[in-house]
Amino acid sequence: MSDRPLPRDDLRALEGYHSPQLDVSVRLNTNESPYAPPPEFVDAWLDALRGIELNRYPDRGARDLRAALAESIGQPVERVFCANGSNEVLQTLLLTYGGASRSALVFEPSYALHSHIARITGTGVVTGERADDFTVDPGAAVRLVREHDPAVAFLCSPNNPTGTVEPAGTVDVLLDAAAGLVVVDEAYGEFADRSALDLVTEARPLVVVRTFSKVWSLAALRLGFCVAPTWVVEELEKVVLPYHLPAASQLAGTVALGYRTEMDARVAALVRERQRLETELATVPGITVFPSGANFVLLRVHGDGHAVWQRLVDRGVLVRDFSGWPRLEECLRVTVGTPEENDAFLTALRAAVPGAESGNG
Ligand code: PMP
Repeated sequence: MSDRPLPRDDLRALEGYHSPQLDVSVRLNTNESPYAPPPEFVDAWLDALRGIELNRYPDRGARDLRAALAESIGQPVERVFCANGSNEVLQTLLLTYGGASRSALVFEPSYALHSHIARITGTGVVTGERADDFTVDPGAAVRLVREHDPAVAFLCSPNNPTGTVEPAGTVDVLLDAAAGLVVVDEAYGEFADRSALDLVTEARPLVVVRTFSKVWSLAALRLGFCVAPTWVVEELEKVVLPYHLPAASQLAGTVALGYRTEMDARVAALVRERQRLETELATVPGITVFPSGANFVLLRVHGDGHAVWQRLVDRGVLVRDFSGWPRLEECLRVTVGTPEENDAFLTALRAAVPGAESGNG
């Protein structure tokens, strides 16, 4: 098989993105919403779908969706760019502003796709380290920006997988130091009490990325967007494939925005459950819980993290195992589920952590 064509040299060592799926009853490993979208939304969307001319390409400019989004966040429509999940937004940003002889700055541990897509687009990766509390140290960040002049600097807030919400001010510090884009990934922004959305203006190269996958319970439809200066959106539109966003997804996003009240109630319920999980986890001996502003919680077990993960799986609960990751030794990430799922997780965890069952009552 030596005559098989080879991929690009720089891609050969690259590993695919893996998030193992197992057939268990409680799945708390991929930060999805545990709730289906409201049935009224599904009916309204299905009704609207009948009006789509399937033989025609979708609206290339996704005008209805962008107008509805712009109104809901109080930004001009020209500052909104939509794509197939926020992953495609990130990819389009890197295709446009990254590439050969350019670099992207990431602060690890963070969302693996930032550096993964950077590499796929031929963009160099500059790795900054987060502080012990997983925040980005502004002084260290400025030094890295000055030294490497990245074309794109990623700030993930709340950060996946740590849940850390970046203190107000870090975005400004980065913007003041950087000549390139500052991309704030707010895939979990609705669960936090701080957002950079209102900071986006024409004057600064700030991009804020969001998704319909989590809060809006629409992970299956792949819909994400960013808010960016008009001059950034215009460049992204040149790079993204024509007609990339299916009519069904555009329509789902537009219709979903009419159900803001229902979605806000879901966010509030998940935030309450997150707080309950954090409180309960803090009582389990040998567990360190990291503060989270997202719909998941990172915890460190004292002992063998992978063994605890396996014991949870044996009890029908799947969480994400980060125990083998650099900087995340013995860490597991649990997505906030329904109260029943969270109870199942807590019960399984108490049984899975050595010494916890008796110590915790
Ligand atoms: N950004 C972050 C930080 C994420 O955790 C995820 C999903 N895991 C995404 C972006 C991508 O989400 P989607 O493509 O579903 O919008």
